[in-house]
Amino acid sequence: MSETDRRTRLPCKYKCLRCGLEYEGTHIPDVMEELSCPKCASNSQRRLKDKKAPAAASTED
Ligand SMILES: [Zn+2]
Repeated sequence: MSETDRRTRLPCKYKCLRCGLEYEGTHIPDVMEELSCPKCASNSQRRLKDKKAPAAASTED
């Protein structure tokens, strides 16, 4: 086992809730990151692609 595997950044897509820009990025599982839109700098970003996204618990608001 490798401890670094837990910190591997996974590719995912984000969408800016302000200007609607969709862009590719990365995220680290179990780590909350502050994101800002590369276009309008808004921090209201939603992750579009997540392998284990709980449908009921939407905390990314
Ligand atoms: Zn934006």
